[in-house]
Amino acid sequence: MKKVLILEDEVNIRSFVVINIKRAGYDAIEAGTGKEALERLRENPDIGVAILDIMLPDMDGFEVCRNIRASNKQIGIIMLTARTQEMDKITGLMTGADDYVTKPFSPAELTARIDALYRRIGGDNAADPDLLQNGPFVMNFHNRTLEKNGERIRLTQVEFAILKLFLQNPGRALSREDILNAVWGPDYDSDLKIVDVNIRRLRIKIEDDTANPAFITTVWGYGYKWGA
Ligand code: CA
Repeated sequence: MKKVLILEDEVNIRSFVVINIKRAGYDAIEAGTGKEALERLRENPDIGVAILDIMLPDMDGFEVCRNIRASNKQIGIIMLTARTQEMDKITGLMTGADDYVTKPFSPAELTARIDALYRRIGGDNAADPDLLQNGPFVMNFHNRTLEKNGERIRLTQVEFAILKLFLQNPGRALSREDILNAVWGPDYDSDLKIVDVNIRRLRIKIEDDTANPAFITTVWGYGYKWGA
């Protein structure tokens, strides 16, 4: 069964999430502190998605996120943010989270995000070639890795999905809506800023000079494009 970790110290919210993700067909692994969450992840390396609350008794959710990402690039991470914590979304994404859900959230919204992340993790299309080469980059869809000049670049699942979209559409201007729809899914109701934040993070990883990006270029007032 597909496993989801839920880290939340407020028992009521945690139970609410657990009931709903079980109803959606997932196995729920619970944690009430950051330390506990990291232990559960060590015991259950097959957890595919982790939901992390930010305000916790022992450490904040971003620290937990960084900890997880230090050793696990594959897992999908969703941050639970409060409505007032607008900056948290950006901070969360910059520390390696794939997505965020704002409290209060509906069970349908949360499970849709989990489903979407799980689809991306296991979502290799059989029609895809295994390898895609473009300039110094080699993208391997079979083991979901990226190399630049033979050196491995570690990407999150979202970053991988965005880069795949660019490499499959070289030279084509993609609007931020195009990218949001292709990567997060058409039902995803979110701010387009999530696209910009992920592009910024990708550029740091793949560009030689992030101030003058040569691979992911900006199409002003529209979106982005692969190449000049
Ligand atoms: Ca909390």
